[in-house]
Amino acid sequence: VSEILAVDLGGTNIRVARFPSAQPPATNLSKTPTHAAEGTEAVVARILQAIDALAPPSRSGMRIGIGAPGPLDPRRGRVFGAPNLPGWTDVPLRDLVAAHFGCPVAIGNDANLAALAEWRFGAGRGSSDMIYLTISTGIGGGVISDGRLLLGTHGLAAEVGHMTIQMDGPVCSCGQRGHLEAIASGPGIARIAAQRLAAGEASTLRDQADGKRELTAEAVGRAARQGDPLASRVIDEAAVAIGCHLANLLHAYNPQVVVFGGGVMQLGDLLLPRIEATARAQVMHPAYLEGFRIARAELGDDVGLIGAMTLASEL
Ligand SMILES: [Zn+2]
Repeated sequence: VSEILAVDLGGTNIRVARFPSAQPPATNLSKTPTHAAEGTEAVVARILQAIDALAPPSRSGMRIGIGAPGPLDPRRGRVFGAPNLPGWTDVPLRDLVAAHFGCPVAIGNDANLAALAEWRFGAGRGSSDMIYLTISTGIGGGVISDGRLLLGTHGLAAEVGHMTIQMDGPVCSCGQRGHLEAIASGPGIARIAAQRLAAGEASTLRDQADGKRELTAEAVGRAARQGDPLASRVIDEAAVAIGCHLANLLHAYNPQVVVFGGGVMQLGDLLLPRIEATARAQVMHPAYLEGFRIARAELGDDVGLIGAMTLASEL
């Protein structure tokens, strides 16, 4: 087995890890600020430099896997640009890196690769049909169907946070209306709570939302735990939205397991029972629920790196 270098390209940091035996854990890890505002060329140069610093002396048998924010085309190896990577329009990242190191390179959408990692090494191990949903600043995920990662014609499939759950709902970060991300992401939860406060609803959150500090989903969760009615309602509505969405996903993909990850899952004890009850109530036939389970992600902060490694291991 050859050595694998895994790259997790984010809007804030470029993380690189070396996996000598194509499985976790990594032996070496590094983290470099992305400085995304400096543009494509500067960021690509930093990626090459970061890989170079961790690469083994002999590069002949090396393989490289890269996770980047979507949308991107994994088959053509091109990154179309994401809100946190300004200036990235159709960048041939795979070929740029492959030309520099003279070794095989694969790229994938970061949330898709996290799904791949949880499937091979985490909470979805042993399943053939799995859905991964990460709920944090945004909502993303990936679908494992019949034992492989679902990509779609242009590699754009499984954008599970940008599906309409409320047709007249709030505007999403992508510009469309009523997507799950606009309702149940961390910023979505905080914004809905702030609007209810602004509309004059009573809440202990009013003392915190004094105009100086931005309301967060974490604060809404804390208030909900203490029995605040407004906060409890907002959290409950987010859980119901995710649960309805989950029923849709069960109908589309008929998975054995759905894995939930992301920062908002720190509120998992508040969200998950309601998510599961809603999904179970919304499915069209009990057969969807036979052997079905909901699980929490197991791989933590390195999930993207492990996913990029997994992708490269298939080269
Ligand atoms: Zn959207």
